Amino acid sequence: MHQYEKTGILCTKDFQIPSEEQLKKGVAILECVQEIPCNPCVASCPVHAISMKDINAPPMNDFEKCIGCTKCVGVCPGLAIFVIKKVGKKAWVTLPYEFVPVPKVGDTVQALDRTGSLRGTALVKKVIKQGKTMVITIEIESTFAMDIRNIRV
Ligand code: SF4
Ligand code: SF4
Repeated sequence: MHQYEKTGILCTKDFQIPSEEQLKKGVAILECVQEIPCNPCVASCPVHAISMKDINAPPMNDFEKCIGCTKCVGVCPGLAIFVIKKVGKKAWVTLPYEFVPVPKVGDTVQALDRTGSLRGTALVKKVIKQGKTMVITIEIESTFAMDIRNIRV
């Protein structure tokens, strides 16, 4: 049983986790565990890293193929895709964001974990629009790379 079925909150045992080397390269983590008919992430990937056994199966990322381009982040209707890249003692987390106001590059924002709890601050490094979704890249302490999944502006 997935942890989220007990608590409603995903934990790192519920989905594929890349190696430290893959995190240094920068890869997409697919925090998608529900079996629903959905697959825009598969079509969005320019290097065909994401695959699914069938339309209802959870997607899998081939971390060796993934180039961390972030193109899959904004297409996910479940806001379940995050690109993580470790850079020395920092980590860059690219996440989908659908609230207002939208932060600007250089802003300091609040860094939240999967439960919505405040875990510190983050520096906004990139802001792009992908369809209706903003895709925001933040810089945080590397130790929080697998925890921070949202921001509050
Ligand atoms: S980050 Fe880019 S290369 Fe990696 S899975 Fe997403 S779309 Fe594919
Ligand atoms: S687009 Fe998002 S919700 Fe749909 S299968 Fe891919 S990761 Fe899951």
